[in-house]
Amino acid sequence: MSTTVAIVGGGWAGLACAVDCVRRGLQPTVFEAAPQVGGRARTVRMDGLPLDNGQHILIGAYSETLALMRAVGADPDALLQRQPLALEFDDGFSLRAHSSGRLGLAIAFLRACGMSWRDRLAALRLMRALRRTPAADETVAALLARTAQTDGAIKHLWAPLCIAALNTSIEQSSARVFARVLTDSLMGPPGAADLLLPRADLGSLLPEPALFWLRAHGASVNTGTRVRAVRQQADGFAIEVPDGAPCFDRVVFACSPHQLPALLGDLPGMQDIARQIAALAYEAITTVYAAFDARTRLPAAMTGFVAGEPHWVFDSGQLGGPPGLLAGVVSAANGTREETERTVLAALRSQFPALSDPLWVRTISERRATFRCTPGRTAIEQPRDSRIAIAGDYLVADYPATLEAAVRSGLAAASRLAGASCKTQNSSGK
Ligand SMILES: Cc1cc2nc3c(=O)[nH]c(=O)nc-3n(C[C@H](O)[C@H](O)[C@H](O)COP(=O)(O)OP(=O)(O)OC[C@H]3O[C@@H](n4cnc5c(N)ncnc54)[C@H](O)[C@@H]3O)c2cc1C
Repeated sequence: MSTTVAIVGGGWAGLACAVDCVRRGLQPTVFEAAPQVGGRARTVRMDGLPLDNGQHILIGAYSETLALMRAVGADPDALLQRQPLALEFDDGFSLRAHSSGRLGLAIAFLRACGMSWRDRLAALRLMRALRRTPAADETVAALLARTAQTDGAIKHLWAPLCIAALNTSIEQSSARVFARVLTDSLMGPPGAADLLLPRADLGSLLPEPALFWLRAHGASVNTGTRVRAVRQQADGFAIEVPDGAPCFDRVVFACSPHQLPALLGDLPGMQDIARQIAALAYEAITTVYAAFDARTRLPAAMTGFVAGEPHWVFDSGQLGGPPGLLAGVVSAANGTREETERTVLAALRSQFPALSDPLWVRTISERRATFRCTPGRTAIEQPRDSRIAIAGDYLVADYPATLEAAVRSGLAAASRLAGASCKTQNSSGK
């Protein structure tokens, strides 16, 4: 009999874990509270319209996510529009990085439109400074001050990249995490900094193909099934769900961090981990979808707004979606849903005066979109009991909350449990 694994949470971390458990010969069962899998990167229906819970961007450095998509039969080349990193702003600023690495970046800075020589030199200075890892307690704002960044470089490069990658303002963001993101992408191997813009809804990128793959491989995925408690028993773990309490050999906690401490509380030796996770703070992301006349086309598929809100506007028509549908994204959003919606629509009208009145508008606010990526965060250790694993985008200290972090954590959880399973089998002579 193969080792049974209960996976609490069917976001990208839980699904990655489940797929890898199958590949390693374990028998996973996923419990997902929501009616659909995908967690914070899912497709929802609003008044019958399929919409993503928020515009997502992947980058070329997401190697494990891309490999997992392929493994479950989702073709990244068809589902994602790959383009060199391009920053196009509403004030005419434009930068394209056709290749990564120091030389590629230097060329991109030289050719950028709307960058003064002082801005270009400042940008190169910051990239050079990143050869040394910033101190654990340094903020991005302090790093920018230390490397004498100009207003132009901050406005067009560092502030938008920081808010896009860390979903936290430069004043609050960790310089170490920002440096890691920049070096892995801009200074990474060829293609690492490429933008991969979804040409299909988020559900089709991974959650739905993974669900189909898992069921076809004999794994069980129970949506609409909230786990109320996990209790340790002599020979495993009882997973308390509305219609019973089935028992499993192993358990993976792949739920969002704010939901986890309550579930961990009953298990012996988990209090420190629960406390560490409970201390995380969160940032919101609001996406305003506005449908205009189908002939509407913006100058670029993705346009940055220097004045802030929205931070980016995406033109779905240029990304395989319905023509005329625009998505305005506000990261680290502070206002109410209604306020943010008004601000985004006003900014769109003022930037693109030819826009007609929207045919409809739908706004989705994710209050806890990501953890706040502040300096000094420490990695969250796995529990001492090797039959338990934690998976999720918040575990690694030097990385922000991303799809890639979620997928990697899910794969690591499966590997940990497979290791524990081998040890048990060896010691019991099975
Ligand atoms: C609006 C928005 C925009 C984003 N943009 C980007 C982007 O552009 N690029 C990028 O890389 N990342 C982006 N992210 C971050 C990315 O979506 C997350 O990092 C990732 O989805 C987290 O996955 P996860 O599996 O770790 O957690 P989650 O997705 O939170 O999954 C946890 C799952 O557990 C379930 N659950 C919780 N409690 C229980 C329970 N008791 N029983 C059963 N199930 C339970 C939840 O319903 C959920 O489905 C964005 C996030 C948001 C919200």
